[in-house]
Amino acid sequence: MCSEPAEATRRLFFALWPDEDARAAIAALAAEQIHRQAKRVTADNLHITLAFPGAVTARVQACLEAASGSLTGAPFELSIDRLGYWPGPRIIWAGSSQTPPELWSLATSLREVMAACGLEPENRPYQVHITLARKATRALTVTRVAPIPWSVRQFCLVESVNEAAGVRYRVLRTWTLEG
Ligand code: ATP
Ligand code: MG
Repeated sequence: MCSEPAEATRRLFFALWPDEDARAAIAALAAEQIHRQAKRVTADNLHITLAFPGAVTARVQACLEAASGSLTGAPFELSIDRLGYWPGPRIIWAGSSQTPPELWSLATSLREVMAACGLEPENRPYQVHITLARKATRALTVTRVAPIPWSVRQFCLVESVNEAAGVRYRVLRTWTLEG
């Protein structure tokens, strides 16, 4: 039996990447609040996923990039003021008690971009969050924290690369939200 060689793919996702101040403040919050047994995400990897195409070919990647380039979205202010725990995946996350409508619009537009490029819709509901730690065995006692301001002016296409030292995220493209 002959079969076509499998086409190379990259594991991609769309995300918001915090600026240096927000990144440092979120990392400090995690260091302060999260118990030692949990495995904290390295500061460089902190992000909010907007949409998850997953493993895609170069052709699909090109489509996603072209379609994202013509997307229109407005900049917005985000306030990170909540901590939460999901016992299923054992994740501690940070989030916002008020998700700005512009963030929902952006996430929705990126689902349209994915559909236009022939990708199936995601099967899990979208939940705005920053994963702070994995393998967490218990919830935090603190759930409301002093707000960390984050001015969102851009969104990115990111590659998830598995390395011996763990997962590394590589920002491939950045688009500015023009408003
Ligand atoms: P690992 O899976 O090794 O723990 P990770 O989850 O950080 O690492 P990826 O699985 O590549 O790395 O995920 C990259 C980003 O996409 C993360 O923010 C992750 O939460 C999100 N993501 C992963 N899988 C899905 C999915 N099926 N639907 C929506 N978002 C996803
Ligand atoms: Mg994962």
